[in-house]
Amino acid sequence: MPQPQMDQPLANYIGRLAPSPTGLLHLGHARTFWIASERARTANGKLYLRDEDLDHQRSRPEFAAAMREDLLWLGITWDDELRQSDRLLLYRAAAEQLVTSGLAYKCLCSRKDLQAATQAPHEDTDEPVYNGRCRANAAERTFDPHSSYRLRVPDGERIAFADARCGPQSFLAGCDASADFGDFLIWRKDSLPSYQLACVVDDAAMQITEVVRGADLLRSTARQILVQRALGLATPQYYHCDLMRDATGTRLAKRYDALSLRALRESGLSPDQIRARF
Ligand code: GLU
Repeated sequence: MPQPQMDQPLANYIGRLAPSPTGLLHLGHARTFWIASERARTANGKLYLRDEDLDHQRSRPEFAAAMREDLLWLGITWDDELRQSDRLLLYRAAAEQLVTSGLAYKCLCSRKDLQAATQAPHEDTDEPVYNGRCRANAAERTFDPHSSYRLRVPDGERIAFADARCGPQSFLAGCDASADFGDFLIWRKDSLPSYQLACVVDDAAMQITEVVRGADLLRSTARQILVQRALGLATPQYYHCDLMRDATGTRLAKRYDALSLRALRESGLSPDQIRARF
């Protein structure tokens, strides 16, 4: 029997674009979103825009407006859209389910990574492996939205998946230095879900069949597979795109003032000329 091709899009394809409105989109985003939109188009599928605006401190409505405008200018359209800040009750229900089933526990450690948890951990911002200090709290099964909670990961288990572009992947879960990631936050004490939880809840609710995003989120995919498992949700297919780097090899990122799509456009480049740089 012929094997399906690794990079062949799925039937009944549903994809998503999930920008965070924390700055202007740059060439790296444009490339990832272009690939996402091409994969949805080739599969004759649907594509949704998800505004990942949970980071209250850094999200701004003007960036949300700019990202829509820039995507449309580049030639990317979508079938429908939603905003994460409208969906807090859904995330809370999922967090509560994890806590009442004993799969997530209250973490009393005060750490600055609690601050960062609504943001997707890209390669330069990934959190340190947590030592599991608060694990004993798992016996306490009442959810308090004003506390932080972590998902307990299976120590020493390799979480494996086949990425549609990068091939077989595996990451070691645990709470010592050999692990690729440890117990991670699913809920923050300021009553917000972490990026990992919100992403899983939304990908499932939107019935996403394929997640297209940057390769620096491969390790987050392993974490998200554990959240899916804990909530009894299906795992979509993943396609992690190559990262764009600047001349010094640094990943393009909003916080480094990388070349924004807007600046390139204002310099007179056309959408075709931008796509030629992908
Ligand atoms: N909003 C996330 C980011 O900026 C998207 C992550 C994802 O596609 O899951 O990286």
